[in-house]
Amino acid sequence: MTALSASEKKQRYDRRQALELLADLPMGQLMNLAHQERVRRFPEGMVTFVVDTNPNYTNVCVTGCAFCAFYRKRHDTDAYLLSWQAYIEAIRSACPHVHIHPFSPAEIAFMAGQETCSVSEVLKTLWNTGIRTIPGGGAEILTEPVRRIIAPRKATTDQWLDVCEKAHRIGFKTTATMMFGHVETDEDIIDHLLRLRELQDFTSGFTSFIPWSFKPGRTPLAQQVKHPAHPARYVRIIAVARLVLDNFPHIQSSWFSENISAGQLGLLAGADDFGGVLVEEHVHKEAGHDRQATVDNVVTIIRRAGFIPARRDSHYRIQETFAPPAPAGANCLSVSEA
Ligand code: SF4
Repeated sequence: MTALSASEKKQRYDRRQALELLADLPMGQLMNLAHQERVRRFPEGMVTFVVDTNPNYTNVCVTGCAFCAFYRKRHDTDAYLLSWQAYIEAIRSACPHVHIHPFSPAEIAFMAGQETCSVSEVLKTLWNTGIRTIPGGGAEILTEPVRRIIAPRKATTDQWLDVCEKAHRIGFKTTATMMFGHVETDEDIIDHLLRLRELQDFTSGFTSFIPWSFKPGRTPLAQQVKHPAHPARYVRIIAVARLVLDNFPHIQSSWFSENISAGQLGLLAGADDFGGVLVEEHVHKEAGHDRQATVDNVVTIIRRAGFIPARRDSHYRIQETFAPPAPAGANCLSVSEA
């Protein structure tokens, strides 16, 4: 059965059909299918965003991913380390209403190894400090041949998924990311999505899927991969994710990780979330990808794509909607994409 037949019959896409969506379906047709699915799930036409910030308690890292320009070695002159416990306590006392959403599954697996305790013990410690959501970073591409090239010292595919499974069973909600546009194949992308879908069938603990493209910039991997993926690839992946990840509530299209136009097109290809208005971010910035926007900018960008902006929290609960549409003349030219 073809992917289109599966779609007409409302059947779940299998691996071959998912590959067909990604590799063969004409872009317009793919976007249309994904958009229909998005409208079916979110008929009110809202696009959510969150006001957030990504402080980094250290830039010292032993993992040494080939795609990263952020990390430093312990004795580098610009290396820094803040006590993360003190950091979290300071945030809690200064800003008690801020929702803390810390530590990727890869970091949690590392902590368990470092402290010679189990992943569940690390997770329970976090739970007992009041943490309820975890970012799905460090997934990169969840296939071992790719991880061996781009992140050989990071948590393996199975370890990453195992942390998520244990976290979901405790009660945490997590996101799931994917970094594409380097050495992966179409098959790797589909296998990544299918591993996530399989786990979600059991736990229902993932809130959203967040893809972003590799930025060569000043990274070691730039020797092999000189150019970032074309924005059309990003939009295709958003659309395929909306269709294949049929058990994921939210798919994120980000103005921040790509650019405004690609982010808007992603909203027309199945995405219902626009990511964060990042107050502070260092990892992409170090790779030469610097973006800035205000809440007003993001509201305007979402409206211009034809949707109703809504601010959410990290549980994807709506906090505030921004209707009616912006008056004529409002624009997003002040958004910096330097
Ligand atoms: S991506 Fe994260 S884990 Fe990898 S080197 Fe950079 S800071 Fe370390």
